[in-house]
Parts: sequence; structure tokens; C-alpha cells
Amino acid sequence: MRVLVTGANRGIGAAIASYLVKEGHTVWGTHRGSEVPAGVRGVEMDVTDVDSVDAAFSHIEAEDGPVEGLVANAGITADTLLPRMDEEKFTRVIDTNLTGVYRVIHRASRPMLMLKNNKKQPGRIVIIGSASGLGGMPGQVNYTAAKAGVIGIARSVAREYGSRGITANVVAPGFTKTDMSAVVSDSVVEQALAATPLKRFGEPEEIAAAVAFFLSPGAAFITGQVLNVDGGIAMGH
Ligand code: NDP
Repeated sequence: MRVLVTGANRGIGAAIASYLVKEGHTVWGTHRGSEVPAGVRGVEMDVTDVDSVDAAFSHIEAEDGPVEGLVANAGITADTLLPRMDEEKFTRVIDTNLTGVYRVIHRASRPMLMLKNNKKQPGRIVIIGSASGLGGMPGQVNYTAAKAGVIGIARSVAREYGSRGITANVVAPGFTKTDMSAVVSDSVVEQALAATPLKRFGEPEEIAAAVAFFLSPGAAFITGQVLNVDGGIAMGH
């Protein structure tokens, strides 16, 4: 499958892209001027800029063909408690983590809808959510609003495109070892580990394995679902 992973230059996105290369997929990965992992075809994209999103997809389509699997992974945090969370901090995170997901799915969807007409395997969409989007997290009103929102996107897309065989699912990681979680304070880390049944952080490759499952033929009848890959911290949500 021809897969595009956003934010593939580091962290979870890089692990997903490398994992999918090993599984035999043709993998394109977005970056903003940095290197992507070996075997991944890089393309520049800023998910907050609709023209940049369009240019990246047009480049892939011209060079290789339509995107068949989309992994919407790019994301940021701008954590602070609500009284200090000004509108800029709120909308910046929403623009990347929620509207950015809308932008890439919106651009991917028309060519994906054509795959069935061309007798190709139907498209697959996987969005990277978050355990904190399920249970809430102090200091993350902006981030959790976006991560709860992407579940709505996945479920609506699942209903809109189901008749074409396209699936849309969310993988919701708990604390995972990347630059994003490295800036979290010691007390939050302590509380998170205490609340995690498996008593450790996740490895980026463990998130990648779940994404690869949703792209695999065995997941063809699964859509609109949220798969928590979080050591159990958000179980029950
Ligand atoms: P990192 O901070 O390590 O990487 C974030 C990636 O997103 C980078 O590739 C970054 O590119 C890219 N990115 C950020 N903003 C934009 C943008 N406007 N346009 C294009 N790319 C952008 O984070 P993680 O790997 O940890 O996070 C990946 C996903 O997993 C995110 O959606 C995050 O919310 C989610 N997640 C992470 C958890 C964790 O504990 N790490 C837990 C739960 C969910 P650049 O290098 O150019 O900045």
C-alpha cells in the first residue's frame, strides 16, 4: 500500500514510517526541512497550511500515485493550566492537531474514493489520538479538545466512506518515549506511571505496530474504532 505518514521525521511518526517500510509498504513521510528515516520518501508539509498540504499530495500523486493509506500523526502540545491558557495557545494546538487532521483527510479523500472505481484496495485512514483525549488531563484543555475531536472526525468519516470500503480509526497512545513526553514534569511522570497498570512508558514502535494492524488486510472490517495503546492508563474510556 502507498502510505503517507505526517510528522515522519522524528518520534512516533518516524517509528511508524520505519515500521511500515519493514512491512513492505511504499512509505511517504512528511517533514518541515529535516531528514526522514531510511527507506521513507520525504515530502515537505506543514499541516497548518492548506497550500502546503495540497502541494505535498500533488507531488506524491505526480511522482508515485494516489495515497492509499493516510496516517495523521503530526501534533504539538502547548500545555498550561486553563487560567493561563490564552486564546493563541488554544487555537495553535487546535490548528495543528484537529484542523490539521481535517486538512490532510480532506485532501486525501477524493483520490481515495476513486480507488474503488479503479478496483484497488480501498483506502485506510489512521489518526493518532491520545489517552489524554479520552480521560482528560490537567494543563491540556487545548490538546485534549483536539484529541477528543479527532475521534469525531474518524467516526464521521467511517460513516461517510464506509460504503466505499474505506476505514477510519484512531490509535490512542499513552505516554510514549519521544521529545513530546520528555518535557513533562517529574511529578506528572510519577502520577502517570502510578496510574498505568503496565508501569512504564510506551515505545514508539509499539504505537507503530497498532497502526500497521489498521492498515493490514486483517483489519478490513474494523472502522470508527479507538485502539488504546497506553499500558492500560485510559482503559474503560
Ligand atoms: P514529537 O514532538 O516527537 O513529533 C511531532 C511530529 O509532528 C514532528 O515530526 C513534527 O515536525 C510534526 N509536526 C508538528 N507540527 C507540525 C506541523 N504544523 N506540520 C507538520 N508536521 C508537524 O511528538 P510525538 O512523536 O510524541 O507525537 C506524535 C503524535 O502522537 C502526536 O499527534 C501526539 O499528540 C501523539 N501522542 C504522543 C504521545 C507521547 O507521549 N509522546 C502520547 C499520546 C499521543 P517537526 O520536527 O518539524 O517539528
